[in-house]
Amino acid sequence: MSQKQIWHEKLHSSFGQYFSIKEVLYRDKTDHQDLIIFDTEEFGRVMALNHVVQTTERDEFIYHEMMTHVPLLAHGNAKKILIIGGGDGGILREVCRHAGIKEIIMVEIDQDVVNLCQQYFPHHHAGAYDDPRFQLKIDDGAHFVEQTKHRFDVIISDSTDPIGPGKHLFKSSFYQACRRILNAGGIFVAQNGVCFLQQTEVINTYQRLIPYFSDVSFYQTTIPTYYGGIMVFAWAAENANLRRIGLNDLESRFADSGLKSCRYYNPFVHFTSFALPQYLIEALAKKAPK
Ligand code: SAM
Repeated sequence: MSQKQIWHEKLHSSFGQYFSIKEVLYRDKTDHQDLIIFDTEEFGRVMALNHVVQTTERDEFIYHEMMTHVPLLAHGNAKKILIIGGGDGGILREVCRHAGIKEIIMVEIDQDVVNLCQQYFPHHHAGAYDDPRFQLKIDDGAHFVEQTKHRFDVIISDSTDPIGPGKHLFKSSFYQACRRILNAGGIFVAQNGVCFLQQTEVINTYQRLIPYFSDVSFYQTTIPTYYGGIMVFAWAAENANLRRIGLNDLESRFADSGLKSCRYYNPFVHFTSFALPQYLIEALAKKAPK
C-alpha cells in the first residue's frame, strides 16, 4: 500500500493544517513564488503559494462571493473595478456577474498563476477572462496603483498574505495610492487574514489605512481552509454609511443586480458581516486616532 503523500501548510510555524494528496498536478517556482497545485479527497484541487493555501475548489465560493458582492452592492452603482492579485480568477468571475459593471482591470504579478489556474481551476474563472469588459495587466499591484491614470469605484485587493510579493500590498504607500485612484463614493477592500491568528496584520492594516480614509473597518466571513476562525476583509471608504446599507435596500439591490442567487452571499449575510467580535473591536479602538 503506497504511503499517502502529506502536504503541510507553513503559514504558522508551530501549528497548522495538512492535506493528504491524491495527486500533485503541478509544482514549480515561478519568477515570483513557489507554486503547487494538488488534488485532494476533501477539498478537490488546492493551490498553494509559498506553502500557504490560496484557494480550493470546494470552499472558494465563500471567499470570492463575500469579497466581491459586499463592496459592489454596498456601492450601489459601481462601473469601474480594479482587482489586485486575483490570479485564480474567482474574484473576476463574481465581478463579471454584475450587469452594471462597465470596465474591469485585474493587475496580477504572476502570469504563471493565471495560466495554471486557467488550466487547473476552470470553475474558478468560468470563462470570465473572455468578458469584453475585462483587461489583464501583469504587474506589481503596488506599481500599477502608483502610476495609473485610471479611476475606480471599487478596488479589491485579493492578494496573498504579506509574504513575498504580497508584502507590497500591505504598505501605507499602497493604501495611499489606492485612495488617490478611487472615485467619489468609492470603496477599497482587501483580504486581511484570520483575525484570531493574524491580529497584528489586521491592526497594521487598520493603522495604515486610517491616514487616507475617513471610514476604516472590517467585515468577516468564515472559510474552512483559511482555518482558525473568522477571516476579515479590510474596508475603507469616505462615506461610513456605505457599510450600514439597510437590509431592505440590500435586498432590492441584490434583486436588481442580476446575481439571482449565490451559494454563500445573501443580503442578510452581507448586513451581519460587519459585526465584529468584541476582542477585535477593543484591539482596534486602542489604535484609533485620539
Ligand atoms: N484567496 C487568497 C487569499 O486570501 O490569500 C488569494 C488568492 S490569489 C491567488 C493571490 C494572488 O496575489 C496571487 O495570484 C499572487 O500572485 C498575487 N500577488 C501577490 N503579490 C502581488 C503583487 N504585489 N501584485 C499583484 N499580484 C500579487
